[in-house]
Amino acid sequence: YQAKSSGGKSIIFFEDIAEKASYRLRLESELPVAIDTNQLILYYQPQVDTVTYRMVGVEGLIRWNHPELGMIAPNDFIPMAEEAGMIIRLGEWVLREGFLQAKQWEDDGLTLKVGLNVSMQQFHHPTFVLTLVRLVEETQVNPARIDLEITEVSAVEDIEETVETMNRLKELGFTISIDDFGTGYSSLSRLADFPIDTLKIPREFVEKIQPATTGYSMISSIIHLAKSLELEVIAEGVETLEQVNVLNRLECSRMQGYYFGRPMPHEQIPALYQK
Ligand code: C2E
Ligand code: MG
Ligand code: MG
Ligand code: MG
Repeated sequence: YQAKSSGGKSIIFFEDIAEKASYRLRLESELPVAIDTNQLILYYQPQVDTVTYRMVGVEGLIRWNHPELGMIAPNDFIPMAEEAGMIIRLGEWVLREGFLQAKQWEDDGLTLKVGLNVSMQQFHHPTFVLTLVRLVEETQVNPARIDLEITEVSAVEDIEETVETMNRLKELGFTISIDDFGTGYSSLSRLADFPIDTLKIPREFVEKIQPATTGYSMISSIIHLAKSLELEVIAEGVETLEQVNVLNRLECSRMQGYYFGRPMPHEQIPALYQK
């Protein structure tokens, strides 16, 4: 296999399935070292309120800056880390890094919410809440600045346990979002039982937002549902002005996507925040 750089992102070409498997094995064997040698990096993508046109938050998105292969996208190694039993360590790295950054921005006077993705194994791990307590102490972050993004799949596994864990996260002061809402299997009847704050509308619906499409009706249903449950909504993957306009008409005023900014190194966030 060979890494080719294009616009800061590496695209890996595989000759065949065996090569793909060896690529995966290489990543799997090198990930522990990557965690210890600062090859992982959190990028941050702006979230904008389109009524005030202010940046109100960012989502932390992990990348692996591999010394030979270049920037590796999370979809190439997060599922592998989950299967190989490394997601707990990796997830803790993400939380610590995101907490330190959120604390730094708060000290610098930026009013930003920092969203961090939590994998379902991490969420259901017996020490998850304790890890959060320890990391809050260690980093001195204000938990009110942190939004924990959980996928629907994590939420449906064991509803009683999930509600209990979520309640403890809320007691600690975190907010909770359901990522990619509508693509998983949540039972709508139980949604009201979850002490969550925000539904994130996935890019796959935003992509097909033209009126009279399934994307449009999914989005408008999610927005109505959120309203009736008194939850926030944020649309992901917003790339065009047309999408912005349709979302605004549907009264979804928090958006995230390439139209507003790509995931970027933390150094670039303050300047964008001031604009
Ligand atoms: P996600 O949490 O749903 O994140 C949104 C993904 O959409 C990100 O991909 C983001 O770069 C991409 N995106 C945002 N706006 C646009 C747009 O306008 N157009 C297009 N085409 N894409 C857009 P990314 O960074 O490759 O991350 C993919 C997934 O990997 C994330 O989906 C999340 O599930 C997972 N992930 C990323 N970072 C972490 C992490 O720290 N921990 C865990 N457990 N999972 C992570
Ligand atoms: Mg997310
Ligand atoms: Mg998402
Ligand atoms: Mg996702």
